[in-house]
Amino acid sequence: MSEYFDIKETMSHKKREGYYNRRLSEMVTLGYERSKRVKDMFDARNISPADIKTVRDLEKLPVISREELVGIEADEPPFGGFCDSNIEIDRIFTSPGPVYEPHLGESDPLWARAYYAAGFRKGDVVLNAFSYHMVAAGLTFHGGLRRVGATVIPSGTSSSQVQVQLIRDLGVTAYTGTPSFLLSIIKKAEEMGYDFKNDFRLRRASFGAEPLAPSLREIFERDYAIDTYQMYGATEVGDIAYECSEKGPWHICEEVIVEIVDPTNGKQVGAGVLGEVVVTRLNNIFFLFRFGTGDLSSLSEEKCPCGRTSYRLNGIAGRVGDAVKVRGLFIAPSQLKVISEQFSDVKFQVVISRSAHKDFLTVKLEPEKEGIDCNELQSRFENVFKEICTVKIDKIEFVKQGILTEGDKLIIDQRSWK
Ligand SMILES: [Zn+2]
Repeated sequence: MSEYFDIKETMSHKKREGYYNRRLSEMVTLGYERSKRVKDMFDARNISPADIKTVRDLEKLPVISREELVGIEADEPPFGGFCDSNIEIDRIFTSPGPVYEPHLGESDPLWARAYYAAGFRKGDVVLNAFSYHMVAAGLTFHGGLRRVGATVIPSGTSSSQVQVQLIRDLGVTAYTGTPSFLLSIIKKAEEMGYDFKNDFRLRRASFGAEPLAPSLREIFERDYAIDTYQMYGATEVGDIAYECSEKGPWHICEEVIVEIVDPTNGKQVGAGVLGEVVVTRLNNIFFLFRFGTGDLSSLSEEKCPCGRTSYRLNGIAGRVGDAVKVRGLFIAPSQLKVISEQFSDVKFQVVISRSAHKDFLTVKLEPEKEGIDCNELQSRFENVFKEICTVKIDKIEFVKQGILTEGDKLIIDQRSWK
């Protein structure tokens, strides 16, 4: 049994770059021919398909947010001119907005890479608890599970009691859906008198649509012996990235180009720098270039021991609107939470101000214990902060106990732009 879904997953860096640039060029050429929206967009910018040859060239095109997509589709229903109207479409999904999304056809291994990397195989009986109604979720996850040979139970949003019966009666070996729903299914089973770990065969779960909190992951893995995985995608562009058994940064799928950009100008940022996740799904039906997910992440350049050579994402750090930009770099509240977990006996608050037309970053530190070594704490804090936020602290200010309270925000922006 192969360790990889296909050979694309282990392409050399050079081959991968060539592959992405070639697929992008094909999509640009076809999109210009078949989509009036794309043609107008290029013509208005005085660029031709030949001007978009590489992933870097995508910067010449605008990032399209979900809100903008809703508006564009409303102006020109149903697909905003992004889809070739002569093509036969298998099915059309909707998501709140509304956004209408043509299904991309069966040649795209949507979600299959994620399930394969999570160990889903022929012989697995999988409870698919994603909704099958209207939205893309249920059916597209279903398709991915079938691509890796698993048998699927389309249980969708049935009650947790029904899900427990299915797990028991059909010998379910794996689950896919949200982590919170799996937890409520387990609790329901316990209420019904079952010992989830010993009475059932469910040993694997792949989650989407909701972040997996490390504490919840630990409960699933330690208390219930369920091996857990995360998948990341967006309804407008399908699967984007997934975890392998190393459970490090997420592998980006070979069917999408992911750029991490500065949301204020759409320019690509370097590895390790936080920015918006912008996705182009390589396909020849729906010519949506540079969809802005509104999610914040950064690219990892670290090699994965699993052997996959894809570019990787360092999880999701939050939403663009929640982040604060300091000296050109974003700081997300979730990054500060990670820091606070590493300094459990210290309260802190980040204050961004401006002096001499420069951003100035102060951190107020309040140790909860008396008599600690402030110099040691300061240098440890500065290092961890730089490591996680990539921004350097200008000044650390120690404050007396009781100044910072639980309700205080972790970050305060005092800058005025007048
Ligand atoms: Zn890996």
